[in-house]
Amino acid sequence: MIILKSQQEIEKMRISNRIVAEALNKIEEVIDVGITTAELDKIAESVIRKNGAEPAFKGYRGFPNTLCASVNEEVVHGIPSQRRLKEGDIVSLDLGVFYEGYYGDAAITIGVGKIDEKTQRLLNATREALFIGIEKVKEGNYLYSISGAIQRYVEGLGFSVVRAFVGHGIGVSLHEEPQIPNFVPLDKCNGPRLKKGMVLAIEPMVNMGSSEVCVLDDNWTVVTADRTLSSHFEHTVAITENGVKILSQI
Ligand code: MG
Repeated sequence: MIILKSQQEIEKMRISNRIVAEALNKIEEVIDVGITTAELDKIAESVIRKNGAEPAFKGYRGFPNTLCASVNEEVVHGIPSQRRLKEGDIVSLDLGVFYEGYYGDAAITIGVGKIDEKTQRLLNATREALFIGIEKVKEGNYLYSISGAIQRYVEGLGFSVVRAFVGHGIGVSLHEEPQIPNFVPLDKCNGPRLKKGMVLAIEPMVNMGSSEVCVLDDNWTVVTADRTLSSHFEHTVAITENGVKILSQI
């Protein structure tokens, strides 16, 4: 069941999502060659706690940290570590916050130092795909119009969308219905209609090579099967009385 949120609930979700955005912005400011993903994790946690909120991922199904930090061929769910970021790396930073009963969730992928041109195109394509998907968020539209728009754009550029992981509804739970694939499932071409009160975490994961992924022995880190680079951007978006709002943007 898709849980619709009242305007008041959406206001609360705006706060949790703003904390997510503040933490990601802070990381973007300080990220540089030589920093470890564990240090980035600490920064995220301190911004969250300073705001009186809690990290949503820490302890979620046993995930050990605040931040998911996925480097290069890692797609999502990378565990922060003492790994030092190198010039030319890309790192996906996915962050969830819990504040007064409601969740916020967003992700960005950042290039460390100078990254090569094709890698920059991958990042640009993923960010653009997210906003192309968000443009389809409208009362009365079908859910898979979001999925189809993302898929067409990404595949048109010669990249692929990950199929094993999808976006999701969000609210009093981190993951609620509906699932939001970044591709159109062949057996269901429309999906549910979008309604006022829906809050959706849209998160294209885009690979440079094949769409296939696998999970490493740590049982968390998802990598591309062909070990090509992967990029990930996410926003939490609400359909409100006053139109569509990106909650995870300051
Ligand atoms: Mg998410």
